[in-house]
Amino acid sequence: MKTLAPGSTIGILGGGQLGRMLSVAAAQLGYRCHIYAPNADSVAAEVSAEFTCAEDDDVASLTRFAEACDVLTFEFENVPVDPLHQIEDCAPLHPPIAALDIAQNRVAEKNFARDHGGTTAPFAEVTDRDGLDKAIAEIGAPAILKTIRMGYDGKGQSRIRPGEDLDQHWEAVAQQPCVAEGFVTFDHEFSVILVRARDGEIRFWDTPHNIHVDGILSVSSAPAPTEILAQQDDARALAAKMAEAMDYVGVLTCEFFATQDGPVFNEMAPRVHNSGHWTIEGAVTSQFENHIRAICGLPLGDTGLAAAKVEMHNLIGAQADDWQNLLSDGANHLHLYGKGESRPGRKMGHVTKLYF
Ligand code: AMP
Repeated sequence: MKTLAPGSTIGILGGGQLGRMLSVAAAQLGYRCHIYAPNADSVAAEVSAEFTCAEDDDVASLTRFAEACDVLTFEFENVPVDPLHQIEDCAPLHPPIAALDIAQNRVAEKNFARDHGGTTAPFAEVTDRDGLDKAIAEIGAPAILKTIRMGYDGKGQSRIRPGEDLDQHWEAVAQQPCVAEGFVTFDHEFSVILVRARDGEIRFWDTPHNIHVDGILSVSSAPAPTEILAQQDDARALAAKMAEAMDYVGVLTCEFFATQDGPVFNEMAPRVHNSGHWTIEGAVTSQFENHIRAICGLPLGDTGLAAAKVEMHNLIGAQADDWQNLLSDGANHLHLYGKGESRPGRKMGHVTKLYF
């Protein structure tokens, strides 16, 4: 496939803040974005040239959308894959459907990481209530029960403490197929964020140190502490092997726990990621711009740090109401996603600060 010239149309499946920031980066390079999302109040559509509001499994609408675009990508990893197979001939899709297939299933994802030499938490698949007893007998408690599909930001999860009645946990995950994971004792959490070009070139951003609160990312900062940097090579090698195995194009994020025994793979996101939002001002080229560059076949931009230290804080729920106060520090880069209502747990924006 030839390089897509500026002026071409990039189709983005999903209409949230990641699509919004991708669209802004694409516009800077002279591309037009067309958002496809089921909800009418898409914050990505607000900043994009075109918008199709339709369901993810509406193949007729999807086909019309794909035929109107020069390349397709997604900002949401739970896009159903079957309809995507039906529009494969309309326009090239990056990253590949295989990456969605793996990332949508926690068991497949962990096995994929293990197959490429990675270490994961001990885990067991649970399909019914009896299976939960067996899984906990096998891996022990504390443990975390996670739905195999559709979980994110700590949703669809239940933490099991030793000796607890398991019925409540089975109810908490709505009796859906799950994976029971042993609780990993970690020193830190971090992510590897890479971009892979169509010619196979891979670049990594500095490794962010991530702090989660209640299962939701709160802070990402770079450079990371030395304990994380000591595990960076192994984690990067795994992420690169996984990207190559999928013939991946675009930004790929892998989340890890830094433990006394080395990096433990938690999950992958086949897309730009919240732990990379600091790259907008904190790196020479942001994750959003390099994703656009990769899928359009442009040369990748420099991923180096743009300051001695960068810190990004998520604005969750009512934290975003503090926007005036945040702006009173002229060094803060404030990003608000344009979501109307600040519900608890909802990602409303983020603020990044560079230290020179
Ligand atoms: P996840 O949805 O898998 O990214 O989980 C959200 C957060 O919950 C992670 O970033 C960790 O802070 C925590 N967590 C998830 N799985 C485990 C685990 N097996 N052991 C310890 N903490 C975990």
